[in-house]
This record gives sequence, structure tokens and C-alpha cells, in this order.
Amino acid sequence: MPIKAVLFDFDGTLTYPGLIGFKSIRQALNCPESHGILEHINSISCQIEKNRAIQTLDCFEKDAALNSIPNNDAETTIGELMKKGILLGIFSRNSLESIIISMEQFHDVAISDFKVVISRDYDINPKPSPDGICMAAKIMKISKSEMIYVGDFLFDIEAGHSAGVKTLYLTNGNEVPDFNIRPDHVINRLSELTNYL
Ligand SMILES: [Mg+2]
Repeated sequence: MPIKAVLFDFDGTLTYPGLIGFKSIRQALNCPESHGILEHINSISCQIEKNRAIQTLDCFEKDAALNSIPNNDAETTIGELMKKGILLGIFSRNSLESIIISMEQFHDVAISDFKVVISRDYDINPKPSPDGICMAAKIMKISKSEMIYVGDFLFDIEAGHSAGVKTLYLTNGNEVPDFNIRPDHVINRLSELTNYL
């Protein structure tokens, strides 16, 4: 089945990795290392406390977004995929606002180049749930076998696997962690994506 769409994770995949300080966010939210940040916020029972935690996260994300830069090869790869007529999408645990601000730091790529942007603003379960990937396929009107999901974290591989799409793990030059679920393919840089397709 030819690939008609590429869905991307955002932080560390389309943007240069390591610019958002997850450690500081966890500290500010008292979120243990073993918990996901969104899962931790969702588990807060007091609504006032929960709202405060959401505001704190939004604040950290917005700061990081203002300083974000495109990942290596991100803009040229997106350009090449567009030339090939491949549909593009984003599926992220970030807020839509932070994605919009981050994309403003790109030069040759705009958020309007993406047919679908699934952020946590959607009323769906975040990754590692496959919901966002299934929703993206629906919006793009393509079957999941015609789509791949590219990401740099375990949740991306888990979400893609559960959704039944092929997953590409982006190492950004680091070693591949010992995942329980193996990605279908490993790339070190985004530019390897065009060869893969
Ligand atoms: Mg990521």
C-alpha cells in the first residue's frame, strides 16, 4: 500500500529536541518521574489545583515554543513530502497554542501546510492512546495502512502500534531505547524519511 500521509509527533520530532524542560515542569507540578505530565494533571481531584497545574504547563510550553527551532532537516523534508503530494499531519500532547507559536519560528513551513493538527485541545485521550491517530486518518480520509507515524518517544511508538499504523522512530542521533514494542523502522534524521517512502 503506498503511503499517502505522514503524521508527525511535534516536540523533538519537527522541533529541535531538548528545548522543553520536562524536568522543570515535573518539579513545578510535583509530578513524579514515573507519571506522564498530562496523566498527573488529570489525576488531580481539586478543580482549582488542576486549573493551576494546566496554567503552569501552558506557561512552560509557551516559553519553550517561543524559543523553539526546527529540527535538523525538518523544513526541507516537509517541503519534499509536499512536492510528492504526501498529506501531512501533527499529533501531539502539546496545546494547540504552543504548536502555533512554535511553527511561527519556522521559516519555510507553516501550520497551514498540515492538513490536520491534533493537540491536547481535542477531547480525546492523549498518546499513548491511539485515538489521535485514528482521528487524523478519518479527517484525512485515508486508511491507516496508507499512513505512517513518526516520533521520537516511546508513546509515539505505542500509539502508532495500537492504532495499527507503521511507526518510524527518530533517534536524533541517540541510541534506540530498549522498547517493549519495536518501531517498524528507525531513522536518525528526518531526511531519511524521503528515502523510506
Ligand atoms: Mg516528541
